[in-house]
Amino acid sequence: MEDNNNNNNDEIKVEQIKPGEGTGGEDPDPRIPAEPQQLKIPTEMPLLPVRDVVIFPFMILPLFVGRENSVNAVNEALSRDRIILLASQREVAQEDPAPDDIFDMGTVAMIMRMLKLPDGRVKILVQGLARGKIVQYSKTDPHYSVQVEVQEEGPTEATLEVEALMRNIRESLDKIIQFGKMIPPDLVMVLESLTDPGRFADLVAANMGLGVKDAESLLEMIDPVSRLRRVNELVQKELELIEVQAQIQNQAKEEMNKTQKEYYLREQLRQIQQELGEVDEKAAEIEELKEKIAKSKMPEEVEKEALKQLKKLEMMHSEAIEAGQVRSYLEWLVELPWSTSTKDRLDLKKAKKILDEDHYDLDKVKERILEYLAVRKLNKDMKGPILCFVGPPGVGKTSLGRSIARAMGREFIRMSLGGVRDEAEIRGHRRTYVGALPGRIIQGMKTAGSNNPVFMLDEIDKLGSDFRGDPSSALLEVLDPEQNNSFRDHYVNLPFDLSKVMFITTANLADPIPSALRDRMEFLELPGYILEEKVHIAKRYLIPKQTKENGITKKDVEFTDAGIRTIIEQYTREAGLRNLEREIGNVSRKVARKVAEGEKKKKIIDADGVSSYLGVPRFLGEEELDTDEVGVATGLAWTATGGEILMVESSITKGAKSLTLTGHLGDVMRESAQAALSYAKRKLADFGKPDDFFDKHSVHVHVPAGAIPKDGPSAGVTMATSLISAMSARPIRKDVAMTGEITLRGRVLPIGGLKEKSLAALRNNITNIIAPERNKKDLEDIPEELRKQINFIFARTVDDVLEAALVGGAPGKKKSAGKANAKKPAEKASKKKKAAKKAGVKISGKKKVAAGTKKSSSRRS
Ligand code: ADP
Repeated sequence: MEDNNNNNNDEIKVEQIKPGEGTGGEDPDPRIPAEPQQLKIPTEMPLLPVRDVVIFPFMILPLFVGRENSVNAVNEALSRDRIILLASQREVAQEDPAPDDIFDMGTVAMIMRMLKLPDGRVKILVQGLARGKIVQYSKTDPHYSVQVEVQEEGPTEATLEVEALMRNIRESLDKIIQFGKMIPPDLVMVLESLTDPGRFADLVAANMGLGVKDAESLLEMIDPVSRLRRVNELVQKELELIEVQAQIQNQAKEEMNKTQKEYYLREQLRQIQQELGEVDEKAAEIEELKEKIAKSKMPEEVEKEALKQLKKLEMMHSEAIEAGQVRSYLEWLVELPWSTSTKDRLDLKKAKKILDEDHYDLDKVKERILEYLAVRKLNKDMKGPILCFVGPPGVGKTSLGRSIARAMGREFIRMSLGGVRDEAEIRGHRRTYVGALPGRIIQGMKTAGSNNPVFMLDEIDKLGSDFRGDPSSALLEVLDPEQNNSFRDHYVNLPFDLSKVMFITTANLADPIPSALRDRMEFLELPGYILEEKVHIAKRYLIPKQTKENGITKKDVEFTDAGIRTIIEQYTREAGLRNLEREIGNVSRKVARKVAEGEKKKKIIDADGVSSYLGVPRFLGEEELDTDEVGVATGLAWTATGGEILMVESSITKGAKSLTLTGHLGDVMRESAQAALSYAKRKLADFGKPDDFFDKHSVHVHVPAGAIPKDGPSAGVTMATSLISAMSARPIRKDVAMTGEITLRGRVLPIGGLKEKSLAALRNNITNIIAPERNKKDLEDIPEELRKQINFIFARTVDDVLEAALVGGAPGKKKSAGKANAKKPAEKASKKKKAAKKAGVKISGKKKVAAGTKKSSSRRS
């Protein structure tokens, strides 16, 4: 040890050697009561920058010194008088602080001990001696040396304020210690005996764990009383902080205690209930769900999730809203047919028998279904195409689906997509939504109760899409065999295997189906039935079904063929069988009532008897025109509900040149009318009319049933015929109906739906149909029976049409040219008319378009 350090007193008397003064100076320091050892402080000394602490005078503390410059400074001090200046850095992180980075005010200290550590660092024990201000940096290498001015503190009077401040600080510190803050407890004791305000303030400041900034500001305060005031402020702040902190802690503790308490109470309640033999509903519910989970044969992943949810439910208060949500989710999980399936019946003979039992005709469709089953029999994992039944309402699409399910021994599920616009309807809502439910697919699967039902998606052509997402893309996923083995409903949020489901879709028209979906489907067309077929179906299927449903038998009622025919013709006007079935049901109900009232006699439903059950006929076959009329042409349209007839009326009156189109016509139809008018202008000479005829006449074309929108090009020939008839005043044959698109040069272009249109014509007692020549190939699709009843006239040009449609033929027509195509229509007397007259039914003179959804003559050429 060096001589300076061989004192046996902890107190060191400080005195700076003024430049040129040499060591000496005997003035006793008033702060130190004991006889201190006098110490001379030099004016220049090495500087040790310290990082995250401010050393106050009289503090003793160990420091680790690692930086090379700092070690050099320590060594320099040790080789001299052990005196060193400790000044704090402004930034802790600064590795190599420049003079500017070091506070000017520091503490002159004495190194009391030094220990070299194996890693090259040194540990020193220092004792602060006095405040020292750096006046100048005299050396920077290999360590800083500085000129220091020791800051002397004058004596302070023990005023009342000083006394009060010190007392206050002591009391506050006491409280702080009580809150458990780490302050050395004997500090208070030392403070009790300390009377010097400056030292008092420094001692407190050194022990409060202040930040460098606060501490440095205290170090820079030379006046002891202001220092004491500032320390008092800091202590009060600390005390307040500690009080608020304690308050917060207490609150948290209380909350915690409340839930804990509830849990314990509930647990106790449960125990008591058990003890009393009362049923604990929650436990019973959990137990029941657990059993259901075990029984439901879920895949591992699903079971894991289900058990996780169950645990969650167990922890919840059973009346909580979340508990309800978790419960219904679990109910869904356990009720879905994850791996329950029915066994397929793949006996083709039996399947054929069932299909024949349920449906008349439809041979093509049945054959395709049997093929499907045959392939399935050979290859169980076949990913078959999605079948799509296309046809107007009531032709048996749904019942065919049901029949397929029956033939295969599968469950049958049906879901209508009509008007579905929201993706969530297919795929469900996420569980975070209030009242969330799975989508229709998962709902259907739950109803099916097996994972391989026949799932019919009805009206796929009526699927909408808007801002709520595109349901067709969700549907695509459902139908895609590559993806649907792990279909993810938003609600269920776990993969569900749909690959074993046989999906069948239905549509009224194929065109509106989104093309991505269309690509995945195989279309089977069910165009509708002719009268004879309907009579047959009624006898074999509908009547037995309806009579049975109404609790009557063959002994009570008999429908004659003529009776059925009357129902079909006068009470229904449709491609399918829905209304027919309904009317048969109506008759059966009325018969049932009579039987119940005690009438024993068998009721015979014949042509005359129908009206006494069903009232006045709704449609009259005799609505056809009484006479051949000028300007009124009968067209044929193809709509979602099958074929329809479509009247076109033209009237030409003297007046300013104009063309008026009415009857809710779409753009395509309006353009068709323009083209028809242009063509009519070209035909003026043929009919002996002056060239300026249309300049002096106003033209009005009207398509009745004006409230129903209509569109499509296939009414072109009808409009041209109607216009030319009106222009030439030649009547149009009432027993001719026509369809075809026209060009300006008078050519007739092909149309779609010839079979449907033919059926519509027949329903309306029209047996001559003018159709585009290029539709001749479609005759193949028309059943023999239908073909026999209709005289088809195939036209290449509008002239061919006029030749066949106008009474007396077309004047401009070269008779030889189109002969092969444009035969004269066959005359056919209307049997219906006579029959109706006999039945006393009033016949309206004007032909009307049947009510219904006659929307458009859809184009499909
Ligand atoms: P869609 O689904 O095409 O609108 P439905 O399947 O509802 O038609 O058929 C309507 C009614 O007509 C059903 O009672 C059905 O059994 C019957 N039906 C339709 N076509 C036939 C048919 N070819 N043979 C026997 N019944 C039929």
